Amino acid sequence: MAVVLDLLKNDPRPATARPRHPEKAHRPDQPVQARKPDWIRVKAPGSPAYAETRAIVREHGLHTVCEEAGCPNIGECWEKRHATFMIMGDTCTRACAFCNVRTGRPEALDLDEPEKIADSVAKLGLHHVVITSVDRDDLRDGGAEHFARTIAAIRRASPGTTVEILTPDFLRKDGALEVVVAAKPDVFNHNLETVPGKYLTVRPGARYFHSVRLLQRVKELDPTIFTKSGIMVGLGEDRNEVAQLMDDLRSADVDFLTIGQYLQPTKKHHEVVRFVPPDEFKSYETTAYSKGFLLVSATPLTRSSHHAGEDFARLQAARNARHAPLLTA
Ligand code: SF4
Repeated sequence: MAVVLDLLKNDPRPATARPRHPEKAHRPDQPVQARKPDWIRVKAPGSPAYAETRAIVREHGLHTVCEEAGCPNIGECWEKRHATFMIMGDTCTRACAFCNVRTGRPEALDLDEPEKIADSVAKLGLHHVVITSVDRDDLRDGGAEHFARTIAAIRRASPGTTVEILTPDFLRKDGALEVVVAAKPDVFNHNLETVPGKYLTVRPGARYFHSVRLLQRVKELDPTIFTKSGIMVGLGEDRNEVAQLMDDLRSADVDFLTIGQYLQPTKKHHEVVRFVPPDEFKSYETTAYSKGFLLVSATPLTRSSHHAGEDFARLQAARNARHAPLLTA
């Protein structure tokens, strides 16, 4: 039976004395929507394949955004052995109002982590892997070299696996983006998260146009890499702002847009202003395709890495179809 998964209650990790979000501890409580609508219901985790994925993650001492962000799709994804690895520790140097990842001062980098990730990817037999990270504003290069080493290690261990990365914005880290792009990921994802008018309250440490420009620069440096970005809705944005954001991403030549419903991790996080119904997601999808994206995923439970393997195949097919008339002309 489908149940609403409350990952914060079901979190199997040991509690620590350190508050998970020290910067939010003294903020006033935000309103919490009493009940999630029916379309947010997901399957509870617990199948044998889910347990195997979890065991491999634990064995290598790795972090996943699936757990750290309290993703509602964990039951479905881990059953398919699809986990999104989060590198460079479990502690983020930013403090976005929507995010459940722990914040504070991070530990030193684990220099063996790229090999551990590569080993896990091989054990899970992944055809497509998504690697993301916490923000590491404390590092000189924002962790660019660590991303590049992780991509290279996966290529060595699993040459047939395609690699998608979901990166921080490398704000004020000159030269960092070039290092990551030179490692040739198949998909470069960087999420805008929300419309520009919400940045001060939702993503205060980031700059909207810097993020758009980052994506544009990836395509300028290497047009063969697919670019991807995502936003959450339900944070109080309006439709025209979302349409403008789509235009901004298309101006930056971004291929793939994901749109999902924002869910509030705790009462100290930004409130859910509205649960956007499925037909509005459908309408966002139609608008985005009309603006020229190669691929769009817009549903309440869409997350950047959800169905990433299948979507990569669809991206390739869409690019081939778009270029076919040119090739045969
Ligand atoms: S959607 Fe992404 S973050 Fe969520 S469980 Fe699946 S792989 Fe993990």
